[in-house]
Amino acid sequence: MKNAFVTLVTNADYVMGATALVHSLRRTATRADIVILHTHAVTAQQLEYLQSLGCRIIAVDHLPLSDDFNQRHARKNLHGAAPFTKGRKPDFHTPLDNFCKLRLWQLTEYRTVVFLDADIVVLKNIDKLFDYPEFSAAPNVYESLADFHRLNSGVFVAKPSTDTFERMLEALDQPDVFWRRTDQTFLETFFPDWHGLPVTMNMLQYVWFNMPALWDWKSAAILHYQYEKPWEADHPKAERLRPLIDLWHAFHENRDIPDIAGLPNPSTTSAGAIA
Ligand code: UDP
Ligand code: MN
Repeated sequence: MKNAFVTLVTNADYVMGATALVHSLRRTATRADIVILHTHAVTAQQLEYLQSLGCRIIAVDHLPLSDDFNQRHARKNLHGAAPFTKGRKPDFHTPLDNFCKLRLWQLTEYRTVVFLDADIVVLKNIDKLFDYPEFSAAPNVYESLADFHRLNSGVFVAKPSTDTFERMLEALDQPDVFWRRTDQTFLETFFPDWHGLPVTMNMLQYVWFNMPALWDWKSAAILHYQYEKPWEADHPKAERLRPLIDLWHAFHENRDIPDIAGLPNPSTTSAGAIA
């Protein structure tokens, strides 16, 4: 049976993200399929280029969730009940759309699936992830050691199964349930004994300035632009993330990519950390 990398796009902004992601995956010469799940808000024309890169394009519906559930997880209500204090989500980010990720458990033609957020670029071949068990994910580390308790759902290894998908739907939409970080909180709860991937498999961009000692271009395999997106013009953290943003644009425009292992790591002096 085959394996696949899967991402999700629900609007034109994340199509841009997926374009850089697919360019980066193609450079790794992966043998796995690349699947783009998209909601009906995305047009065929917006997906044409990704298709020309050999991606499988699959339309998905939102999950069949109750009106109450959808209300509680609507952007305005979620941001009100569980405000983001450490970074800012772009206006084009709709929390409810995140749950569409769970549709990948319906892709039962694949033995193993590696989900990658559309705001990711892959820096080296990561096909070995297909040999990892369900459910594997890296910790949500970008500020402090306490972050190691939680997973980040931007990268994970899953085994598609209709049975698992149905059990997820049952567990997801409980009366009054509130998943404060949407699919991430849900997956952490559904797979309480999740397997840990190393941080190199999901380097979060804030590590660059919050925990520079953890940064290592030689071992980093997946770079994840959580919170502000690299294609947002002049976002609040753009100055501090300049080298990472420049790298994203090189992938997006499919330009020459510098030797990643040779890039300078962030300075670990306090001045460097603040700059
Ligand atoms: N996503 C999407 N449209 C949305 C919100 C999310 O397509 O409105 C998808 C996209 O693949 C994205 C992922 O879900 O990368 C998770 O959202 P995001 O990466 O913005 O969250 P963060 O990593 O900042 O927590
Ligand atoms: Mn993300």
